[in-house]
Amino acid sequence: MRRHLRYLILLLILLFVAVNETVNEFRTTSWDRPLWVRVYAVNGDGRGTTDKYIDGLESRDFKPIEEFINREAQRHGVSIDAIQIEYDGRLQSHPPQPPSGQNIAENIWWSLKFRAWAMRRAWSSDNDVGDIELFVSYYDTATTQSLRHSIGLQRGLIALINAFADPAYSGSNQVVIAHELMHTLGARDKYDARSMPLHPQGFAEPFNRPRYPQARAEIMGGRIPLSPGEARMPESLGEVVVGIYTAAEVNWPVDVQ
Ligand SMILES: [Zn+2]
Repeated sequence: MRRHLRYLILLLILLFVAVNETVNEFRTTSWDRPLWVRVYAVNGDGRGTTDKYIDGLESRDFKPIEEFINREAQRHGVSIDAIQIEYDGRLQSHPPQPPSGQNIAENIWWSLKFRAWAMRRAWSSDNDVGDIELFVSYYDTATTQSLRHSIGLQRGLIALINAFADPAYSGSNQVVIAHELMHTLGARDKYDARSMPLHPQGFAEPFNRPRYPQARAEIMGGRIPLSPGEARMPESLGEVVVGIYTAAEVNWPVDVQ
């Protein structure tokens, strides 16, 4: 009996989630008003040094992301500011971490848990939730050398970003946050299994002659292609653009000349 009840509750939650997400997707594809993006910080490893880093974060640490998206949206024909970012400080509760493996069932289960967590958080909060919510989980570089992957969900309009609590990484953190933000808007990855950007869609200037080296990265290609087998991470959003393939995926009025 209890099992049936749990099953029923789960089904009701899923139904609610599906209705909610359909409404959300309509809101984020029209570009007739700026989307309100809220950023929250989470102490990912519970260390005092990470707390200190988060204490020092301000709205202006996330402004370059807003400027990047708005600059690129305008370049692709959006006549208004596409987004407006607001930093809303630290959260005490932690989003569930994604599974480390590629197991599809585990990943689906995680994405449901993450969406349920974000919804419950929004309900218990007095503030408006905004259109898109980004949860940035920070880790001390002294104890964390490599981060778990970050994930942006279009269904749910939320993203979990794992980032380094170190000013030296603020540029690359911004690149990762912008990449996941683009995922929430419907953009897809444009790199292969070896993390090499796909041609032409993952290149900033796919039709340059010669093709290599490229000067900048495409936001969903992730890295700057230097040669057919070599690419490097951009150091900041100054080295990144949104290409026409990604622009079309997020419904920007791509200018075809
Ligand atoms: Zn991605």
